[in-house]
Amino acid sequence: MKFFENVAKQIFNKEGIPILEGHVAYSPEEAMSISSEMGVPVVIKAQVLTGGRGKVGGVKFANNPGEALKVADEILGMQIKGETVKHLLIEEKAEILNEFFVTVSIDRGARRPVIIASKEGGVEIENLAKTNPEKLIKYYPNPLIEFLPYEAREIARKMGVSSDLISPLGSIIWKLYNVFTKYDCDTAEINPLITTPNGLIAADAKMVVENDSLFRHQNLVKRLHYKRKAVDFVKLNGNIAVIGNGAGLTLTAMDMIKLNGGEPATFLDIGGGASEQVINQALNIVLNYEPVKVIFLNVLGGITKADDVARGVIKALKQSERHVPIVIRLTGTNEEEGQKLLEEAGIPYETSMEKAAKKAVDLCNELKQEMK
Ligand code: GDP
Ligand code: MN
Repeated sequence: MKFFENVAKQIFNKEGIPILEGHVAYSPEEAMSISSEMGVPVVIKAQVLTGGRGKVGGVKFANNPGEALKVADEILGMQIKGETVKHLLIEEKAEILNEFFVTVSIDRGARRPVIIASKEGGVEIENLAKTNPEKLIKYYPNPLIEFLPYEAREIARKMGVSSDLISPLGSIIWKLYNVFTKYDCDTAEINPLITTPNGLIAADAKMVVENDSLFRHQNLVKRLHYKRKAVDFVKLNGNIAVIGNGAGLTLTAMDMIKLNGGEPATFLDIGGGASEQVINQALNIVLNYEPVKVIFLNVLGGITKADDVARGVIKALKQSERHVPIVIRLTGTNEEEGQKLLEEAGIPYETSMEKAAKKAVDLCNELKQEMK
């Protein structure tokens, strides 16, 4: 059984092989909010069981949440060698200095496991096998005795990497071989194994577990199929981003916008007890979502504290490169402190939801007039 890259990576990492911070997304909106939360350029990767995604557009980069939304939308639903892309891995984009290749598999002819490694890894590895097979280092560990760290270092040395890399590279080869035996693999592979300013990292991972051994690994497999949720975000067709705390209040805010003749661009529920960080994240999403002309933030503080909201708003607006007018309704727990913070930052606010909704729609209409 072949595992998705994200699952293989979790297992590799559990055995001590470094990976990049990454999260799984099932929709463009989720990709966008993950990218916003990570706050760094990301690589967005189709999760399919076949290799060669890079060559057909299944691996792409995004510099900001807006790009992440677009790129994720392009990759999801794509067909890669007959397989439909249903989920994505969003990873911090690494600065790659070199790409190595290491695989452990079974040489059926030799009836032994074999380690094959090269300092010229990456998407062209199949060509390398044809044109420069001498650049592939092959090593047959004795399956009946322990594979020792010095043997792994010897492979690294034969690969011809610089001397400072022999020890860390040997360590990863050794760990990969241990993954291979511990999980009863047919294949355990890293391509590329990248060198970065932060050391060696598995940028891709492939793991195939022998079917007859799967019963031994069921629990692990189930546990590693995780799904993670950021803020609740639904993309809509209008221009006014609606953000609220709690689904009910957010829906009400949408109704108020509609009632005044406006069209919501988002339904974004920050949930109860949202922290300054969650508010910041929510605003980042809509600030980077291109159709948004006006933001309507509707908060009635309960568990959510108005001063936390104010701080999150101030921070997000300060950091944003794009200027989008925002209408804020802020009342409830700690409202005086929250309102005072907004006043000090020169950000206007309302206390009535009706008034605020009307203001947001009027503002959006004015902007549309200006553009004509
Ligand atoms: P595959 O084509 O299905 O094997 O997908 P990979 O995960 O191996 O990605 C293909 C290629 O994309 C790699 O060989 C890298 O050159 C590039 N790539 C993947 N992740 C990163 C990253 O974090 N940073 C950079 N700069 N390139 C990446
Ligand atoms: Mn690869």
